[in-house]
Amino acid sequence: MKTPVSERPCCHFFRAIASAAKSLVTGLGITGRYLAHPREVVTAEYPDNRDGLKFAPRYRGPVTMPHDAAGEHRCTACGLCEKACPNGTLSVLPQRNCADKRVLGKLVYRLGQCTFCGLCVEACPFDALAMSHEYELASDDKAQFERVLNRKEGR
Ligand code: SF4
Ligand code: SF4
Repeated sequence: MKTPVSERPCCHFFRAIASAAKSLVTGLGITGRYLAHPREVVTAEYPDNRDGLKFAPRYRGPVTMPHDAAGEHRCTACGLCEKACPNGTLSVLPQRNCADKRVLGKLVYRLGQCTFCGLCVEACPFDALAMSHEYELASDDKAQFERVLNRKEGR
């Protein structure tokens, strides 16, 4: 039986070339339009767009401990965040102050282990923790991946 002309390999070949040429022209048309109308460009190049970056409301960066203007935090060293963390990323190291009251010595956060699940933030009864908007996390300094979140005693 004879193969219909439209199903012959040479026809597939020419159809593929025509399709590729059409998509090339379409792509070049879009590029040309943005060249002629630069205000319509919706993409922005990193890192030039750093200042104007907008984060989604539920964006989760590394865990941070907010401090007020006096440099104080709200942590009471209760240890609930450490218990809530599923993989041992946090270590609450309490100490006694001069009034023999239990206070926070250090809250150690191992960034390299964190999965940004947010369970520690939810578990904290004093809103002492938050997920930051930090996003440039690459570093060749190992010390950057183990942080002390309370500032005064920390760094
Ligand atoms: S965000 Fe999740 S993994 Fe990271 S420290 Fe908090 S509980 Fe642990
Ligand atoms: S950060 Fe919150 S949950 Fe964790 S030890 Fe401090 S007060 Fe407790």
